Amino acid sequence: MSYESVIGLEIHVQLATKSKLFSGAATRYGADPNIQACIVDLGMPGVLPVINEDAIKMAIKFGLAINASITSLSVFARKNYFYPDLPKGYQISQLDLPIVASGTIDIRLDESEVKTIRITRAHLEEDAGKSVHEGFGENTGIDLNRAGTPLIEIVSEPDIRSAKEAAAYMKKIHSLVRYLEISDGNMQEGSFRCDANVSIREKGSTELGTRTEIKNINSFRFVEMAIDHEIERQIDLIESGQRITQETRLYDSTKDETRSMRTKEEANDYRYFPDPDLLPVSVSDDLINEIRQTMPELPDAKRQRFIDDLGLSEYDSEVLTTSRELANYYEETLTVAGNAKLTANWVMGELSAALNKDGLEITDSTVNAQMLGQLVKRIDDNTISGKIAKQVFETMWAGEGTADEIIEAKGLQQVTDTGAIEKLVDEVISANPKQVEQYQNSPEDRKGKLIGFFVGQVMKASQGKANPQQVNSLLKEKLQ
Ligand code: ADP
Ligand code: MG
Repeated sequence: MSYESVIGLEIHVQLATKSKLFSGAATRYGADPNIQACIVDLGMPGVLPVINEDAIKMAIKFGLAINASITSLSVFARKNYFYPDLPKGYQISQLDLPIVASGTIDIRLDESEVKTIRITRAHLEEDAGKSVHEGFGENTGIDLNRAGTPLIEIVSEPDIRSAKEAAAYMKKIHSLVRYLEISDGNMQEGSFRCDANVSIREKGSTELGTRTEIKNINSFRFVEMAIDHEIERQIDLIESGQRITQETRLYDSTKDETRSMRTKEEANDYRYFPDPDLLPVSVSDDLINEIRQTMPELPDAKRQRFIDDLGLSEYDSEVLTTSRELANYYEETLTVAGNAKLTANWVMGELSAALNKDGLEITDSTVNAQMLGQLVKRIDDNTISGKIAKQVFETMWAGEGTADEIIEAKGLQQVTDTGAIEKLVDEVISANPKQVEQYQNSPEDRKGKLIGFFVGQVMKASQGKANPQQVNSLLKEKLQ
């Protein structure tokens, strides 16, 4: 039998507010345990939550970016469960009336194929604290710094059909929240993580199969591995005549396997009810319009502009807009260099390779956009050849000055003086009488190999500095 996999993702994004969702405590990562938990986060009797306006605005911003509808009166609810890192005994979340409902996002599967994934909802909720197992012997420590940190949970429809699509979707949401500057998206620190719901069904069927949910995946690579693994496990079960149990599973990346955490029977009954301490959140059209004014250019629009206005290829535009930082770097380089395609080649080529090699982010690049722009400009205005430019780039990367300084200090300017080039051409011709004879007697060899040989010799004699077009035409003229 042939199967189709069906996947829906729930992504948790930590919002980049300075303080928590319902208290004034700081949200900064990495502080000493429990110094950023105030009486509200600790769930002391008698305290009252106060909503953080910035968190509301960030959620709306996300909603606008996915063309969703913004709920004019959204409601906070208590989700009740018992866990040591949850001091109040409930998490404040949203159930029936989430702030953002029914949006869409496009993911690119390859150069020509785009797929739309529907987003059911995005709701606001507070994060829980953390259990700390190291350094407490038989006991467990509780760090409540994260308790009350604002999150949006983004829930997709089960529109995703493969592990690859799931990773592409997760990357697209990640890029989007960073473009919007509503989250730092730091996956190591847990600011961006997802649960993957996976089921399989007979190809062609329209019914949904029984699903399992894999919890807390915090990398693009793991989401792909975990889902692929889970699809295989489910197919094996069905093929051997067994049934899938609806359950929550945990992905172990070191063993590349998923393990059962709890089945549906053991699932919590969260006894949701509207939080009586919080009023419904009223969002006016004025507020929505005000936020609309602050929207940056989004990745899809930017990609289209790169194609239409700069004449870049679909592929180049896609790569250069994957992150806001890369797109900014490219545009700043272009302002100095003034040649869109050549600049794209350098950013995606030499620069990316150098960043990869040194494990650097674009924002920490040794060569900044101004410096790269100046180098590309010198290729574009024929001061140096592309080949020499690579040498200049390496020197620049090593911190030995700007492109112009290096070109000047090492005397790398391209030789365009016809007299000087002519001299080298004459020398090469007289040093290679056999090849000259061959060139003159067999016209079919001229275009390809032989002319290449002569150009190579002259370029070598000039240490790569002669202008190749001039070398080429002078050689042809003299060899006739
Ligand atoms: P819950 O609240 O129990 O987590 P939801 O109905 O809200 O369940 O669904 C959560 C996620 O699971 C959504 O992303 C949804 O698209 C996905 N989902 C629901 N049913 C299936 C299924 N049969 N197979 C795969 N994904 C599913
Ligand atoms: Mg769920």
